[in-house]
Amino acid sequence: MLTVTQALDQIVREVGSFAPERVALDEALGLVTAENVISQEDSPPFDKALMDGYAVVASDIAAGLRELIVVDEVTAGRTPSRDVASGQATRIMTGAPTPVGVDAVVPVERTELVDEDPNRVRILLDSIEREKNIIRRGTNKRVGEQIVSTGRLLRAQELAALAEMGFAMVSVRRQPCVAVLATGDELVSVDQTPGPGQIRNSNETMLCAQLRNAGGVPVPLGIARDNREDLRRHIDEGLNADILLLSGGVSAGKLDLVPSELELAGVEQVFHKVRVKPGKPVWFGVSRRGSNSCLVFGLPGNPVSSMVCFELFVRTAIRRLTGQFPAIPRTLTARLTHSHSHTDDRETYFPAAVEWTADGPMVRLMKWHGSSDLQSTVDANSMVIFPPEPKEYAVNDRVEVVLWNS
Ligand code: AMP
Ligand code: MG
Repeated sequence: MLTVTQALDQIVREVGSFAPERVALDEALGLVTAENVISQEDSPPFDKALMDGYAVVASDIAAGLRELIVVDEVTAGRTPSRDVASGQATRIMTGAPTPVGVDAVVPVERTELVDEDPNRVRILLDSIEREKNIIRRGTNKRVGEQIVSTGRLLRAQELAALAEMGFAMVSVRRQPCVAVLATGDELVSVDQTPGPGQIRNSNETMLCAQLRNAGGVPVPLGIARDNREDLRRHIDEGLNADILLLSGGVSAGKLDLVPSELELAGVEQVFHKVRVKPGKPVWFGVSRRGSNSCLVFGLPGNPVSSMVCFELFVRTAIRRLTGQFPAIPRTLTARLTHSHSHTDDRETYFPAAVEWTADGPMVRLMKWHGSSDLQSTVDANSMVIFPPEPKEYAVNDRVEVVLWNS
C-alpha cells in the first residue's frame, strides 16, 4: 500500500497545469499567476511629498535659517513650477511632486506664516533630517524588477500592486470545475428528515465548501444510489468536469461499486488505498475522453476521512492544475499541549487546534471519536501528523502539523 508521500508523488506526476489565459484584474481575485510580471515603471513615479507642509533645503534649517520665502505651491496632481534654492520653500501637499532643490518636507503643524503673509513661512524646528517626509522615485519598485512571480495566488495586495503599475490584464490559470457526487442508499438531502437507517448527505456541503476555499468551482451532482445504473449515469455526467469527487462506496463492502464502475467508465486507476488514517480506501484515477481529461477521486464516505483526503490529495491536485508551488501540503512544527499515546501503524492525521503563543506554536489534540466524528473538526484548525509507528508522546514534544484551508 502506498504511503501518503508516495500517493502525493503520484498525483504530482499525473497532474499537469492548465494553459495560461489572460483575464482582467477585476476577474483575477483567487486565481493563480501564470507569468512573472515585471515592472515597466518606477514606483513611485516621481519624488513625492509624504506630508502636507513646506518643501525645504534641510541644511538651511540646520544652519539656523528660520524664515523662508515661499516661492511656489504644489497640490497632488500638479507639478512644481519653480526650483527651490537656499532660503526658499514650496508649500506642498501630500502626494504632490517635490520641486528640484529640496531634500525634506517640514509638516505644516511645525510651521507658521510670518505676519500672516502667505509668501513667508517660519519653521518651528531646530533641524530636520535630510529626506524626511519625501519618498524618491523608484524607492518601492524600479523598472525591470518583479512585481509578482508565477504561481502566486492573487489576493487584494497583489492585484493592487499590478493595478498601480498599469497591468489591466494578467496571465493566470483558471479555476478547475469540480463535480461532487455523493453515493449511498442511506443518504437523504440536508433539508430532509432521515428515516430509519438514513443519514443526511453532509459530505456534499463539506466538499463544496472545501472546494471553494481551495479555488475550485463546485458542481454538485446530488446523490447516486448504490446500484450500477445510477452510478454509471452520474459518473458519466461527472467526467465532463476537470475533477470528479465521489464520496463513499470505495471500500470493501458489498455495495462499494465505485472503483469497478469507474474502471468500466474508462477511468484509469492510479492508486487505490493509502496507508493513512483516516482515509485508507481513497481511490485516484484519470479519465481521458477525447480532448477532455478528468481527475477522479473516490473519497471514503466517512466525513472526517473525506475531509482529510481532500486536504491531502484533492488540494494537491488543484494546486498542480493551477500551477501553485509547492503543490504538496506544507507543514509547520508545533509542540503538544498534552501527552498522547499513538498506537497505529498508519500515518495518522489527527484533528487539532494550533495556537500561536509567546513560546511559539502549541497544538492541542481534539477529543476524536474516529472518522465519522465531524464535531471533532469544528473546533480544530489543523491536523497533527503522527508517523506510522506506535509511540508515546509527552507534553512539549514537537510534531508536524498541516493547517486546514492553507
Ligand atoms: P462508505 O464509504 O460508502 O462505506 O461510507 C462510510 C460511512 O460514511 C458510512 O457510515 C456512510 O453512511 C457514511 N457516508 C457516506 N456518504 C456520506 C455522505 N455523503 N455524508 C455523510 N456521511 C456519509
Ligand atoms: Mg456507501
